[in-house]
Order: sequence, then C-alpha cells, then structure tokens
Amino acid sequence: MLFLCFLLCVTTSVAMGNILLLSEPPPLLLVSFDGFRAEYLRRFPMPNLELLYSQGVLVEDLTNVFVTKTFPNHYTLVTGLYPESHGIVASHMYDPIIKGYFPQGNDEKEAVWWSEAEPLWITALDFGYKTAAMMWPGSHYSYNNRTATHSVPYNLEVTFQQRLNNVTQWILGNGEEPGAKFAALYWEEPDRSGHKYGPDSENMAKALKEVDDNIGLIVSELKRTGLWGHINVMVTSDHGMAQCSPDRVIHLDACLHPDNYTLVDITPVAALIPREDAQMVFDLLNHCHAHMTAYMKENIPERLHYRNNRRIQPIILIADEGWTILHNGNQLRLGDHGYDNSLPSMHPFLAAMGPSFRRRYRLSNLNSVDIYPLMCHLLSVPPRPNNGSLTQALSLLHTQRQKLDLSLVFTLTVGIVLVLFTIQLLFRWLRSYRQSGSPAFHRLECNGDVELRANSCK
Ligand SMILES: [Zn+2]
Repeated sequence: MLFLCFLLCVTTSVAMGNILLLSEPPPLLLVSFDGFRAEYLRRFPMPNLELLYSQGVLVEDLTNVFVTKTFPNHYTLVTGLYPESHGIVASHMYDPIIKGYFPQGNDEKEAVWWSEAEPLWITALDFGYKTAAMMWPGSHYSYNNRTATHSVPYNLEVTFQQRLNNVTQWILGNGEEPGAKFAALYWEEPDRSGHKYGPDSENMAKALKEVDDNIGLIVSELKRTGLWGHINVMVTSDHGMAQCSPDRVIHLDACLHPDNYTLVDITPVAALIPREDAQMVFDLLNHCHAHMTAYMKENIPERLHYRNNRRIQPIILIADEGWTILHNGNQLRLGDHGYDNSLPSMHPFLAAMGPSFRRRYRLSNLNSVDIYPLMCHLLSVPPRPNNGSLTQALSLLHTQRQKLDLSLVFTLTVGIVLVLFTIQLLFRWLRSYRQSGSPAFHRLECNGDVELRANSCK
C-alpha cells in the first residue's frame, strides 16, 4: 500500500511538472509579408529567410483559401476559418443585412464586417495574455468592444523598422506589465511590387531583396533584445501572385449590358447581383469567355468552401490564371491574385523557428487554416471552433515538445489507473477489516426452546 501511494505521488508530480512546463509557452510572433508567392523562394536569393528556416522549419507550399485576396486570407490565418465562416469573403463586399458596401472608409461602420469571427488576439486576451497587432488587416476594429492590448491602424508611412521596434517592445513589456504573448505584424511588400511589375519581372529581385533585408532586421532585433531563441517566430504570407498581360483580358460589358446587374467585385473573381432575370444573366455570362467560369452561388464547387454566407453574391465569375476581367474602365495590373486557391502561383509559404519548432525540417504542404490551431497549441490557448487541424501541423514541432505531450498523456493515464486501483484496494481492505473486527451473528446453540425459555442458555 505504501509503495502504491509512493508511485501515485511520483506520477502525479511528474504530470503536474509537465502541466506547468506546458503552461509557460514562449511568446509567439506572426509576421506576414503580403503577396509573397512560394515560388519566389526558389527563384530569388533570400539569405536571411534561409538562415531563419535553416534553424527551424519550412513549409514550401501553403494552400490558402479562396478567394486568394488579402483580407480574406489574413483573417483566415488568425481565425482558422474559411471566408464563408469568418465573413470577410472578398476585398469588396455587399451585405444585405447591413445594406452597405465594404470597404466603407469609416472605422466605426467597418467594425461590424469583422465581427463574425473572433481573432486570436482576442482569444489570447481572454486567456489572460497581453496581445499585439501591428497593422494586421482587421486588427484595429473592435471585436465585442475589445481590441488587442496594443493595436495600430494601417499606415503606409510607418517603416518596417518602426513597426518591428514597437512589436518587440510590446513583447518585452515595460518591467511592470508582462509583455505581449502573441503579436502579429504586417508588411505590404512584395505585394505592391508584384501588382506593379508582375511576378515574372526582373524588378521583383529588388523587392524581394528588401523583404529579405527586413527579415534580417527581425533576426537582428530579436538578438539585440535577447528574445532570439526564446520566442517562436512564424513568417508567412496571405497569397501569391500571377503574371497578367494586356493580351489576357475579358471585357464583361461585351457579354452583358451593365444595367442588368449590380457589380460588387470585379477581378479576378467578379461578384454580381442580377437586377431581374437571374437565369438570363447567368446564361449570358456563362458563355461570355473561354477563360472565365460563371457559377450560380448554390453551384460553387464544394472544395472552394465559398457558398454559405450572405456576403457571397448570387453569381460569381472566376477568371483563369493570369486573366483579368475588365469592366467600365477598371485598370489592368501586371500582377494579380484572387484566383482559384488550387493554383500553385496563388500559394504562399511558411517559415518558422524558435524553441518549439524542429530544426532543419521541411514539409511540402500545409493548409493555411491549420496555422490557427497550431498557434493556439503553441500558446496553450483553447482554440475557438475552426476549419483547421493539428494532424499535419504538429509534425513541425520539436520532438521534445511532442515527447512532452506524449509523456503528459502517459503519466496522466498511469496516474488515473493507479488511483482507480488504489481505491479498489482500499474498498477491499475496508470490507475485510469490517468482517474481522465485527464477527457475524451466530445463533446460540441451546438444547431446546423449552429449556431455553426456562433456564436460558448456560
Ligand atoms: Zn495580400
């Protein structure tokens, strides 16, 4: 019995030790370089990024979500939800309940558009952490009247160095207040250059060099502040970029007079509200161009997860890779994104390093919806319901941490078995003690009832 109690104490303390270890996660910094196509990694020298993932992990190809636009994908990264579930379904939207268009250019009115899903900086805040979001899309709008502990609205004038310095100060804290446990940092390149020059342009070399220099700044700033090696860093992006051309344009007005519909979004995924005969509008658009596919909302392919939201319009048109839908004078851009998310040109990457990540490990593919549950796991924050999974993402983590998780499960299981076994033994012992301490009633053996009544038993 004593031995069992001893075993029980040892197992419980090991389990508690593991729980304590798991409850003290390192801070997590999530950085997005907008429009960083995964293929750039193979085409341009990125010494600082290589240094980062050579000490950590690289997911060479990240399958993002449709539509492959900035706002939908950035909100997916911090919610783990497909756009039909988090509500940011495009860069330009119409909501029949709000009876308004997005963007509205008014902070107070805009918040409602981002209120259908809770981002990680709020979930982690509820868990008791300080959080920070530097210009991450949607982060300065309040969710249930709350924002991240530190939040800065988008401002093109603020340099990467300034954004980074703020974020590292927030993570470090000020000596009295604890630092932010989760921080998200946004930078608008190489997206801007990708749109301007096209991803195939030699000008992208300069843009990618600047992005890599900024990754070098992250490394040097984390080393300067002593955070390097004590913080998990994830560098990723929202989407890739496809090369467009004046030779690949689709003139929407050539198929249908604009009086027949209201146009909500235009290229490469157009969203339309038919004014009267929806079937007639659809039939005309369906045969409009060989490089554009029309869908009634209810027939949008299941794999796109793009049907179940009132902000998805009754008809959508999807241009083929590199094709541009033009309408009433909208400008052609040499690079664009938003296309089908099964296209490799639309995919970004993920590089990560830190105490929780494996070293020199590569994974060929991961879904971007899996990043949210992975971040929650790293922070030990219970995730909100999401479309992601840890099945693949856990392979990115350091075996030590995986072992820790497994040993926690093992020690807890052994502990529970021992507790049950001890309780059973205790019951058995108590039962036998009662039986030996209070002997059972035995009728006195007398010679006969008459004699018993007369003399009682002697
Ligand atoms: Zn973007």
